[in-house]
Amino acid sequence: MSPTVKMPILCSNCVDKRAVLKRPKTGHSLCKECFFWAFEEEVHQTIVAAKLFKHGEKVGIAASGGKDSTVLAHLMKLLNERYNYGLELMLLSVDEGISGYRDDSLETVKRNQQQYELPLKIVSYKELYGWTMDAIVKQVGLKNNCTFCGVFRRQALDRGAIMLKVDKICTGHNADDVAETVLMNVLRGDIARLRRCTAISTVSEGEGVVPRCKPLKYAYEKEIVLYAYFKKLDYFSTECIYSPNAYRGHARTFLKDLESIRPSSIMDIVHSGENLSVREGVKMPVQGTCNQCGYIASQALCKSCVLLEGLNRGLPKLGIGKHHRLHDKILSKQPLTEKEERKLKSVNF
Ligand code: SF4
Ligand code: ZN
Repeated sequence: MSPTVKMPILCSNCVDKRAVLKRPKTGHSLCKECFFWAFEEEVHQTIVAAKLFKHGEKVGIAASGGKDSTVLAHLMKLLNERYNYGLELMLLSVDEGISGYRDDSLETVKRNQQQYELPLKIVSYKELYGWTMDAIVKQVGLKNNCTFCGVFRRQALDRGAIMLKVDKICTGHNADDVAETVLMNVLRGDIARLRRCTAISTVSEGEGVVPRCKPLKYAYEKEIVLYAYFKKLDYFSTECIYSPNAYRGHARTFLKDLESIRPSSIMDIVHSGENLSVREGVKMPVQGTCNQCGYIASQALCKSCVLLEGLNRGLPKLGIGKHHRLHDKILSKQPLTEKEERKLKSVNF
């Protein structure tokens, strides 16, 4: 009996070259070139269909050195040239002050800056808030650190964008991230966030808030990894040493399980989130401005100012949970009562 000879699978698009991968999103077997083209074209179509940019705009690319933002920077440069978007691009990074993690990933961003020949601005938590994440973790422990980090990052990106005078920030959020956020907001019953989280772009919500958009919103994480791998892009793949938010971690595992049974689950969840409508009469937080720093806030103080005040007073619990009634005291720098202090001091929350 003669041994069976395995025939190479041909690319289903060009039917010429050998297929090197099966697209996670569509199941098509493609050669490298056809995959690159399909992936790039889909992102271009997303940008055009949602009118994400206007000719002549200055755009800051939020760059962490990770796969998503590295692929985003690569694609924005490539598509800007290929389709003459007419954008002025620059990289914007946040240094959270996490030794052994962010310092290394920022080295990757610095190399990307050389590779893509784009200007780079790094803003640090230390310089903006007087605290590094290393110091924050020492005070608050490892349970709520991502709350501090997330709130500070959001504002840090805006502050960096204002320093760079960009019109817009684009971020590397992909379809998996959006699906994960939809799941988390459903599980938490957070209607306000649920309504916002699938938006591909945001308009400025007030002074100091720069519009944002997500050109990779419909790109699967697995395809981003494949693209970065086959393009040999220079990116940093280590996880944060302060471990990702546990709740998000569960939502992620759940999503990956669903994806392994049915790959379209990711896009189905994104579409479900997009099509949810909120019943009339549901109370939504009203956005105002922070009385202390002027940033958007739905209370007298923005989340960032409350968290910072908690850190500076050695009362880390202040910004976690609902302590709105203490905002007036904080604003007028009044001392807290012993009982209030005791409640807010413990880090076992
Ligand atoms: Fe910050 Fe948490 Fe992300 Fe680490 S995992 S960078 S602490 S948000
Ligand atoms: Zn504030």
